[in-house]
Amino acid sequence: MAPEVPRGHSPSAPGEFEIIRDFFQRQSADADVLLGIGDDAALLQVSGSIAVATDTLVAGVHFLTGMSPARLAQRALAVNLSDMAAMGAQPRWFTLALTLPNADVDWLSAFSMSLHASAGEYQMTLVGGDLTRGPLTITLQLIGTVPAELALRRDGARSGDLVFVTGTVGDAAGGLRLLQQQVECDDRASANELVDRFECPTPRVSAGIALRGIASAAIDISDGLSADLARLCAASGCGARVDMAKLPISDALQACFGKDASIEMAMTGGDDYELLFTAAPAERERVITALSLLDVTAECIGECIAGNAVNIHNNGRYISDAKPGYTHF
Ligand SMILES: [Mg+2]
Repeated sequence: MAPEVPRGHSPSAPGEFEIIRDFFQRQSADADVLLGIGDDAALLQVSGSIAVATDTLVAGVHFLTGMSPARLAQRALAVNLSDMAAMGAQPRWFTLALTLPNADVDWLSAFSMSLHASAGEYQMTLVGGDLTRGPLTITLQLIGTVPAELALRRDGARSGDLVFVTGTVGDAAGGLRLLQQQVECDDRASANELVDRFECPTPRVSAGIALRGIASAAIDISDGLSADLARLCAASGCGARVDMAKLPISDALQACFGKDASIEMAMTGGDDYELLFTAAPAERERVITALSLLDVTAECIGECIAGNAVNIHNNGRYISDAKPGYTHF
């Protein structure tokens, strides 16, 4: 960790080394962590290929500033785990670069406890990081393992492959609209479900691993189904046809927003962190079986076609080309 010390306003606020020791350093049961937090770098033992991914969450950009530190930790880990899931990788280790406005002990305690709890659910170990003072920003880097020949890549889809999506889509976009108070929903249970889906997405880690050797290509939905499908298609050199009538939409989303808005959010809303993947038609049964063993649903929403366009259909009738989803620039 670099020697920048985020001190709070109180003279008793902990410095960087106390923060690391008290909140982030833990004994690891992982024998492949030869050296963890405390030296200039971690030493990790690996055989085969590793998958590495990083993602930053900035206050006010990726999450609303009032979000609880416990939920924030869970979300930061989940969005990064989703990238491991999209590669079919087994997540193993992570580093944390944390920028904080001040060393608030209550915040650090809630954040770090939640982070360790979430990491434990996936048998992950925090092996290093960095601490800086500034506007609240959380960057995680995850390291996972996957045999290179079994990794789920974006570039393996072929014309004729089926397009699948796990879970339901559009929920996170609905949750965000509710949090931003763009809309009111009297159905509190449904509204809470959507907010939970935005704040604490479920990364499809075991689904990704189960799809090794079955899926021809995969990506996780971070910026919206249509945008992420367009990325997968561009990498694979094919187009796709998606039928809106087949999109898996939750009862909660329909209850709060009605059918038309739900479909719009399912197509273009980001932050769902579901897996969007393709498989040869002959693999349809294996896809459904492999995922149902994990209690994960997968819906076939269309197919890959020649060309490079992503066409939207409704019950077989052409509607339009897909609109792009969220981009930062
Ligand atoms: Mg991704």
